[in-house]
Amino acid sequence: MVRALVNGAGGFIGGHLVQNLKSKGYWVRGADLVPHEYSASHADEFLLGDLRDPAFSRRVSEGIDVVYQLAADMGGAGYIFTGDHDAEVMHNSATINLNALEQGRLAGVKRFFYSSSACIYPEYNQLDPDNPKCSEDSAYPAAPDSEYGWEKLFSERLYLAYARNYSLDIKIARFHNVFGTEGAFEGGREKAPAAICRKVAATPDGGEIEIWGDGKQTRSFLYVDECLDGINRLVESTFPGPVNIGSEEMVTINQLAEMVIAISGKKLTLRHIPGPLGVRGRNSDNHLIREKLGWSPSRPLVEGLEKTYRWISSQLQKA
Ligand code: NAD
Repeated sequence: MVRALVNGAGGFIGGHLVQNLKSKGYWVRGADLVPHEYSASHADEFLLGDLRDPAFSRRVSEGIDVVYQLAADMGGAGYIFTGDHDAEVMHNSATINLNALEQGRLAGVKRFFYSSSACIYPEYNQLDPDNPKCSEDSAYPAAPDSEYGWEKLFSERLYLAYARNYSLDIKIARFHNVFGTEGAFEGGREKAPAAICRKVAATPDGGEIEIWGDGKQTRSFLYVDECLDGINRLVESTFPGPVNIGSEEMVTINQLAEMVIAISGKKLTLRHIPGPLGVRGRNSDNHLIREKLGWSPSRPLVEGLEKTYRWISSQLQKA
């Protein structure tokens, strides 16, 4: 039986990944600073602790075949792009990754999955909302638009260096805006799809919702189940990456909001206000993952939005 460690198991993707690995018959240990906020963990063992602490990182790595490293100090644009959390984000996430590799290696772990981000791509290739460039080989010369992106790029290199020098099996994915049920939708760390679902669900028919910026910035969004499928394909392959795991269904933020409004059945208008934005355009480029792993998302954006909207509405009704 494969013994897996999921770092960040109390978080959004980590929580879903634990369930997915259990359904595949793995023995799973989860580790996080906090328990999962929205459901009881399906992990065989869930250890609460700080992965910045080498001793805790070592303890959770003992007896493990594969580490899924998803723990990070992160959030949506309201957290990443204001500049207020830059030092914490870089220090906390880099320390977690340094420990995960060094303590994992010392504990005898041979295989690591690392969750990098589309935020590593250079801002200069993402100025035109209609034609952003995010092919894997466009990462250099590096110029991420956030310190979060710089830390991810540093850590990608750290994982690759450990693979080279310690013969570890390393897999690196660059996620593009993953969304879904059982993720943050309030409190400041939520991302655009969850924030928009919350605003639409909380606004009475005929009202208006606020959108940061002019709403013409483009992005693509990947439903969490598709992301898990991509992770599994990558980890089970011989291809190390880094590789994009994202959707190529690019929409503007205004279009995203209109899709959620249509799902709600309400008539709402958009009011544009100043806010932290990130790059002007971004879309996943799936050429490499199609070629190497035969993977691309199987379902349209609207289906994931329907599930997410329903879940966030039910959470608001409970509150
Ligand atoms: P999340 O914030 O829901 O989960 C991260 C988890 O890490 C949290 O539960 C948090 O408590 C935990 N954590 C943070 N610091 C810790 C510490 N010192 N010790 C122990 N646990 C700690 O985020 P997510 O959306 O599930 O993202 C998972 C990973 O994927 C992250 O590395 C993130 O950077 C990456 N990623 C996510 C997206 C996305 O759209 N969600 C996009 C690109 C990359």
